[in-house]
Amino acid sequence: MNDSPHIDHAQLQWDDDGQPVSSVFGDVYFSRANGLEETRHVFLQHNQLTERWHQLNTGEHFTIAETGFGSGLNFLAAWQLWLIAAPADAQLHFVSVEKFPLTKTDLQRALALWPELGEFTAQLIDAYPVFVGTGFHRLSFMDGRIKLTLIINDAATGFAQLLATPHPAFANHCATIDAWFLDGFAPSKNPQMWSDELFTAIRQLSHAGTTAATFSAAAIVKQGLKFAGFNIQKVPGFGRKREMVKAFMEQEPIVDHQDSLQTRSYSPYPVPWTIDAAATTPAEKHALIIGGGLAGCTSARTLAERGWKITLVERHAELAQEASGNPQGVLYAKLSPKSEAQAEFNLHALQFAQQFYCSRWSDIGEQCGVLQLAHCESERQLHTQLRGKFSSADELVQFVDAAQATAVAGVPLSLNALYFPKAGWINPRKLCESLTNHSAINVVVDCSALILEWDGDNWQINNNPGLRAPVVVIANATDAKSFAITQHLPIKSIRGQITYLPKTAASGSLKTLICSEGYIGPAVGGLHCTGATFNLKDDTRELRAEDHRTNLENLRVPLPELLAEWEELAVENLQGRVAFRCTLPDYLPLVGAVPDEQPMLEEFAPLRKNSRAAIHKTGSYHKGLFINIGHGSRGLAYTPLCAELLAAHINQEVLPLPRELANALNPARFLIRDLIKNKR
Ligand SMILES: Cc1cc2nc3c(=O)[nH]c(=O)nc-3n(C[C@H](O)[C@H](O)[C@H](O)COP(=O)(O)OP(=O)(O)OC[C@H]3O[C@@H](n4cnc5c(N)ncnc54)[C@H](O)[C@@H]3O)c2cc1C
Repeated sequence: MNDSPHIDHAQLQWDDDGQPVSSVFGDVYFSRANGLEETRHVFLQHNQLTERWHQLNTGEHFTIAETGFGSGLNFLAAWQLWLIAAPADAQLHFVSVEKFPLTKTDLQRALALWPELGEFTAQLIDAYPVFVGTGFHRLSFMDGRIKLTLIINDAATGFAQLLATPHPAFANHCATIDAWFLDGFAPSKNPQMWSDELFTAIRQLSHAGTTAATFSAAAIVKQGLKFAGFNIQKVPGFGRKREMVKAFMEQEPIVDHQDSLQTRSYSPYPVPWTIDAAATTPAEKHALIIGGGLAGCTSARTLAERGWKITLVERHAELAQEASGNPQGVLYAKLSPKSEAQAEFNLHALQFAQQFYCSRWSDIGEQCGVLQLAHCESERQLHTQLRGKFSSADELVQFVDAAQATAVAGVPLSLNALYFPKAGWINPRKLCESLTNHSAINVVVDCSALILEWDGDNWQINNNPGLRAPVVVIANATDAKSFAITQHLPIKSIRGQITYLPKTAASGSLKTLICSEGYIGPAVGGLHCTGATFNLKDDTRELRAEDHRTNLENLRVPLPELLAEWEELAVENLQGRVAFRCTLPDYLPLVGAVPDEQPMLEEFAPLRKNSRAAIHKTGSYHKGLFINIGHGSRGLAYTPLCAELLAAHINQEVLPLPRELANALNPARFLIRDLIKNKR
């Protein structure tokens, strides 16, 4: 996993006309004459976007990639044109790589110069993320009609993370770009950006028909585009600029990768088992989803917003009756000072989830904030270690002392804490109902998927012709084990019990969620929900008094005064709920195409002897069969991003995560690890 080093925000000066100038590069962010008109001339007009968008079919998507997000002006101008020129149900993906993002305050000030973009600017500013290091930020606007993937990194590295693999022979097995906006500071001011590596990534990410436009007519840019396989043309620039360059890729880019395929005893590149080279999007966009919990319902919604027809099959009479059936869950994911996969995924997932829920709170729960108390020595140390990485991320997390925590919580607290102001509690059942309330989603309840078969064109459930579609998503948590095709997955079930406690005079003033060994939230309907226990290899569905005791005991350190009253109650009479978490050995979810076990084991057998064996083959995956499970104790934080990732895989779009992180969730990873460890 890449390090996610501290990033620097752009250092700006404001000139006499109120326009931003980079102090570091000594260059302007947009034309002093008229930045918006320049954007329209250079990038929109010379990529022929109006004409191309008029020709899009219903439900199609179009992908723009940009070097240098800057003030977001190009993105907003493209968004505005998209609404005029593209079909109402098509989606615009705008990917932009930025090494020095503007602060929100600077962004606001810069974009105030363009009042005609005001309605889009306001939405961008609302969603503008907190930057904690390098990484991806997927923002979604207008019910998914416009998607922005803001990659914080230098341009070449950022775009390389969109490729399928660093292996040159297979790198282009990924979603490609339809139009390039080569913006950013001029080559004379920022020569590092316009590197050979950048143009190599541009070549690998383009296809026959891709266009590019740039304000610059510098030799380095023209040579780079030619090297990338584009035909270039000099045309008049905007305003006083004599020339600019537009470019067109006539044929599929030729990638010279023979050297990378030479037979060697080991490969310098990762073995490309993660790649599903045969993946295609079916003509009929219809998916069956098995499981009506958080994973199934978020998957249904994200696909429906991309124009897919969804049939969601749930075995119970209502949605969200299993793990997703608790009345209150915490939106939370543990932060870490490290940059390994789990830590990076948690951060990406939490930020994505907060944006996903921001317009939904009033229907599903309460954005009351979450306090993570420093309740033990390891937690205290963790909070200290987090200070470096998160000290300027107040919108995401704040470091509060006991007095501040008390003010936030409304009840006395004696411990320092991390405070997540944009988090809160959610009723997962209400969330599932709200997500599936969409005209393209048909929920079929009282239907247990027992048989799953492929007839050559479609998947069919229970031999029922009414449950037949080219794509299936398995989202039934631990029950994925019941299908022969996914039996090989090392799924674990972890029992959890929550306890309901009556609101008391003292507890009634609790107004935020408090997490320590367990969690407790504000009372709803006269009851607090607290929990949860954690038991592996335990399938007891009945409530246990001893587990209620554990849940009460977990309140002793954070809330001794409140506990005193609840300790008077007879635990045998307490109510609660038991459910089972679904988890994988590495505690990361499983999201993507389902591997075809036998061919996978055969093709990659040399890994048993040599983990870096030179195997120049892509993975074997079942056509149209996907899975989204393993959300452990973090379903509320994980499922929105996992559904977005799943939809991107199914719909062949740019992924919302860096390649390595998406690979860390690949459903074939345990087969490959077993081979490497010689366990299979
Ligand atoms: C006690 C407890 C407390 C928790 N607290 C939190 C918390 O505070 N915050 C948080 O983020 N997460 C929490 N979690 C975790 C969270 O609840 C889960 O991660 C999440 O609900 C998982 O959603 P899912 O859709 O994957 O699984 P589930 O909700 O279990 O959904 C799977 C669905 O598939 C259906 N199904 C199974 N087999 C079939 C079949 N063959 N055909 C049709 N349907 C089928 C099931 O009936 C079920 O509805 C908690 C979990 C537990 C157990």
